[in-house]
Amino acid sequence: SLELRNLTMAYGDINVLRDVSLTVAPGTTTCIIGPSGSGKSTLLRGINRLHEPKSGEVLLAGESTLTANPDTLRTRIGMVFQHFNLFPDHTALENVALALWSVKGMPKAQAMELARRRLAEVGLAERADHRPRDLSGGQQQRVAIARALAMEPEVMLFDEATSALDPELVKGVLNLMAGLGRRGMTMLVVTHEMGFARRVADQVVFMDEGEVVEAGTPAQLFDNPRSKRLQRFLSEVL
Ligand code: ATP
Ligand code: MG
Repeated sequence: SLELRNLTMAYGDINVLRDVSLTVAPGTTTCIIGPSGSGKSTLLRGINRLHEPKSGEVLLAGESTLTANPDTLRTRIGMVFQHFNLFPDHTALENVALALWSVKGMPKAQAMELARRRLAEVGLAERADHRPRDLSGGQQQRVAIARALAMEPEVMLFDEATSALDPELVKGVLNLMAGLGRRGMTMLVVTHEMGFARRVADQVVFMDEGEVVEAGTPAQLFDNPRSKRLQRFLSEVL
């Protein structure tokens, strides 16, 4: 499980996350929704410590991540970004294999073989030798997902993974994510795709101005929003 307790985060003197607490149970999917600037990306960055929290606690399988070695932590927590963040000068296969030998210390041949399997699982066996620029956005995002999965993470974090994609490519990536959820991956997904959140999430969390305003099942949040802020947000996005 992944548990946040009273997580507070700041840039300089400005707190952009205040006392955020939430639990993602093992094998479940939590979707985070909320307006631009509400702190969704900052929250994910605090979990894998791309930005250090100011106070509070993050527990992964009951252990504090704030004292863990950041490199080890990032093998346990997979992250997928809006803009893929692939290495442009490496092939799809190398992108997936790289951390397996450089971070996990796997022999190179074995890393390549495993990477090939992971690429096949996201439907890209034929594209293994292409560089990112020779792949569509949707294919690049599949490579990024395969790369994160290759590390066998305990949790996957997604930050607007489909926001940079052409509309016709969004569905394929969302379906891939939904499939991971069905196979028992523990996932925390920041998304603007309300249909995905309603269909796939076990829990939906609505954030506004650095706080969790409401959390519950998709039916509770989408069909029965209690706060004015969530009602207004839904009326703008649905
Ligand atoms: P979006 O939906 O637009 O991606 P978000 O919910 O992910 O928004 P964050 O990126 O977490 O929001 O930003 C939360 C707040 O922190 C915003 O007010 C933003 O301006 C501020 N912020 C984000 N990154 C930085 C930074 N590197 N330095 C200073 N302030 C930042
Ligand atoms: Mg963001």
